[in-house]
Amino acid sequence: MTRRAACGLLFILLLAGMAPAQQKIDENYTRKIREYTTEMMFQTELVDHLPASDRVPNPEKVLGYPVGTPDKLTYSADIYRYMRELARATPRVKVFSIGQSEEGREMLLVAVSDEENIRQLERYKQLTARLADPRTLSVTDADRTIADAKPFYWATGSIHSPETGAPEMLMELAYRLAVEDTPFIQAIRKNSIVLITPLIEVDGHDRQVDIYRYRKANPSKAAPSLVYWGKYVAHDNNRDGIGMSLALSRNMMRAFLDYHPQVLHDLHESVPFLYTSTGMGPYNAWLDPIVIDEWHILAYHEIQEMTRRGVPGVWTHGFYDGWAANYMFYIANGHNSIGRFYETFGGRGADTAERTVPAGSTSRAWYRPNPPLSRVKWSIRNNINLQQSAILLAMNFVANDKERFLRNFYLKSKRSIEKAVKEGPAAYTIAADERPVEAAALANLLRLQGVEIHQLDKETEIKEGKLAEGAYVVRMDQPYSRMADMLLDTQYYNPSDPRPYDDTGWTLGPLRNLKTVRVTDPAILKAAMHKLDKDAAVEGKIAGSAGSAAYIINHNADNTLATLRFRLSKTRMLAAEEAFTHEERKYAAGSFIIPSEGNPADTRSTLEAAVKELGLTAWAANAMPQVATHPLAVPRVALLHTWTSTQDEGWYRIAFDQLKIPYTYISEHVVRDTANLREKFDVIVFPPTGRGGDPARVINGLPVRGDPVPFKASELTPNLGTAPDTTDDTRGGMGLQGLINLKKFTEQGGTLIVAAGTTSIPITFGLVEGISITEARQLQARGTVVSANIADAKSPIAYGYGPKLAVYFNQSPVLRVGLTGAGGGFGASSMFGAAEGRPSGRGSATDPDIPQGRAWNPPERPQRRSPGEEETTIPDEAREALRGYLPPPEAMPRVVLRFAEEKELAVSGMLAGGSELAQKAAVVDVPVGKGHIVLFANNPMWRGETQGSYFLVFNTLLNYDHLGVGRPAPKPAAKKEARPE
Ligand SMILES: [Zn+2]
Repeated sequence: MTRRAACGLLFILLLAGMAPAQQKIDENYTRKIREYTTEMMFQTELVDHLPASDRVPNPEKVLGYPVGTPDKLTYSADIYRYMRELARATPRVKVFSIGQSEEGREMLLVAVSDEENIRQLERYKQLTARLADPRTLSVTDADRTIADAKPFYWATGSIHSPETGAPEMLMELAYRLAVEDTPFIQAIRKNSIVLITPLIEVDGHDRQVDIYRYRKANPSKAAPSLVYWGKYVAHDNNRDGIGMSLALSRNMMRAFLDYHPQVLHDLHESVPFLYTSTGMGPYNAWLDPIVIDEWHILAYHEIQEMTRRGVPGVWTHGFYDGWAANYMFYIANGHNSIGRFYETFGGRGADTAERTVPAGSTSRAWYRPNPPLSRVKWSIRNNINLQQSAILLAMNFVANDKERFLRNFYLKSKRSIEKAVKEGPAAYTIAADERPVEAAALANLLRLQGVEIHQLDKETEIKEGKLAEGAYVVRMDQPYSRMADMLLDTQYYNPSDPRPYDDTGWTLGPLRNLKTVRVTDPAILKAAMHKLDKDAAVEGKIAGSAGSAAYIINHNADNTLATLRFRLSKTRMLAAEEAFTHEERKYAAGSFIIPSEGNPADTRSTLEAAVKELGLTAWAANAMPQVATHPLAVPRVALLHTWTSTQDEGWYRIAFDQLKIPYTYISEHVVRDTANLREKFDVIVFPPTGRGGDPARVINGLPVRGDPVPFKASELTPNLGTAPDTTDDTRGGMGLQGLINLKKFTEQGGTLIVAAGTTSIPITFGLVEGISITEARQLQARGTVVSANIADAKSPIAYGYGPKLAVYFNQSPVLRVGLTGAGGGFGASSMFGAAEGRPSGRGSATDPDIPQGRAWNPPERPQRRSPGEEETTIPDEAREALRGYLPPPEAMPRVVLRFAEEKELAVSGMLAGGSELAQKAAVVDVPVGKGHIVLFANNPMWRGETQGSYFLVFNTLLNYDHLGVGRPAPKPAAKKEARPE
């Protein structure tokens, strides 16, 4: 029926003094809704029934059970099958694919509206696109567009796989929106277009359904935990909104830019009974205040309407801060739309059970005058009722007030464009000369975020200084200036604000080791530049003379250099051990030298093809440079995971996969069961494993009790088989045997890399000496960006780096390097005086100590170590006393990267008590037997944001067998004491 015909019919009915006949209800489905709802207070008139339809199948007709049936969860294939059956049956529904997951499962977008809106979907997309970029829109055109447009309201389910209510609910919601004829639903259908993505994390959802089935079939056994959600990360799939490393983030972003929805509503499940997002602050400071207000308007509408209907425990504010830009829904918030979420009371799968509600959520508070009950019988149907009722209320509100939300959307877009000349800055620039590949990668990430990127056509001078030709310019007079601003600006998080919910700093320039400038001078907007109409690409080449004695690639820490080494694994390559000048060209220490000698005749062409694609420039040289070199290795790398938590190592796998660094993925059980790890691997990377990382728990793993707990494909669990790793039994960690095997591995020449949480493993279990973790008392550095200095530029780990590097650090560990005192294990601190600081006395902290009543006798060596400075230099007298106990100098821990001094430490995010971290070791290389253990206090591979630190890891790989290069020559006296290996 067309709109006109419908109106005509209504008119005739009204003329006849009749109301439209009440729509028939599906009695059976309705009865089950009521049966599965534990108490009527968890129900509203909006969803306590299901309308009947002769033509359109409800979920039960396709699935065989109504949505919210106890003990029933639905696989993605069946959810999609339902959505497609629905679309086939009614012109009010259309289904689109918006891309695939890493494992090839589809992501869907289901559009629901009245048939006329669906028919004109393309037109409505054009209208919101126009409002999203009003640069060429006159005020009159804007008014007309706002009047004509329909807001898109996008509901998304289950980015978090254990939160299983939303994908079920969204099927019923789609049906109800398409079929129900109440004026309330008609208003939504007529005035807006609802978009539904039933599953964001499709891979994880199917595995979750598997595990639920396993649990139901094996009630007496321990069920596997969902150790893999998607291919890479678990819960942090909702922390990829900045780095966009995951397919789901990119798919969502692209779909957003296709439709420009006014609201993106992400459905989560955790706290009772329905938390609707606003957050407790501090709020993200780069957002237009209009959106903050919209969060509140929508939240309070839902709270009021749900409370009026007698539903307890619907509240806002007291959960999550609203600060970080890394959540998926920044696809909306960062792009002038409204990003919001619910937390409804979830449960274990689709179980119905008596539940004790956590005490923290049941107290009455100013933001929660009607708190959740403290004990409740809960069902998945209750969860579905609450989600569906509240989101319908929000959808109805937006539909009825569509002009307000469309006008706000337009205004936010317009104000983003005005930002360059109003609040500023005018632009950011990204220097492209030092690390062109990484600069292009950042430019392309911003493009993926919908941000326009320009490039300077010539050298340009502005108030902030000279900018080189080719520098990328991110203008702030464009629709998505705010997203770019929040990613490139620095963050200040006041430590006395509430404890942050997540990372507090994420500034991408420093984290990617790129020079960015926040340009306030509006002159930049008039500079000669051109807009990139496709992704930035750096074309590599072989340059220079026609010579062919060698090809030299300067090491600038562009990450594709590592790709090159592994891609040309058969090619002989050398690392220069010093900086050098050759044929009038300067090269940094670590530069790659590919000699013709010892390489096949076609090396030039192989190299040319590779560098071209990887954006690298190899300089042909007439002669081999005169510089000390060692071979660049192509190590056999293992990436080690536990069976308790794979999330944080997932970011390492992403980094390795994106850069095509090959590795073998092994579990802690492989370490336990492989006596000779050295035979198989050269480097084992043990990334952080779960938060906290209690070393004993990491080593012990899951308790070994009862039956084996498999994580593998079976009839009940087909989707576990596509996980990155599988096993017959997840129980038990690497155990003491694993530690022994790791120790042997390093002693026999292997290199072990540990980072953040896993640094505690070699330290606690004595695989390294001279390093301890100190407990910080004042330090507050939660997910923050701090400055560090290269402490030993001669270490191969530092190759390609300048003197400074910003790194991601999250509160711990604070490493103390020292052979005496707390960290040493020699118990000799009293022999050498206090570990840190000068004696209490006259003057300042840096003044020399002056005993009284005698002439001052200046100390031969500094009286005082600066905080963080190691005690690895042992005075000769002491060395004599400890002869036989001290490691020889070549086995001493070597600090490669050190956190900056306190006044320079803060880059972005929260930092207090920085003195405890200042000048402490960030990266330490500890020789162990013939091998090494390299410890990172920072996390070098985090959420696709820390590309600037990646090469610290890659250098360790490529030079794993030459990490000792560049150590100061040991003193002759010390040499005598070298212990036999
Ligand atoms: Zn969640």
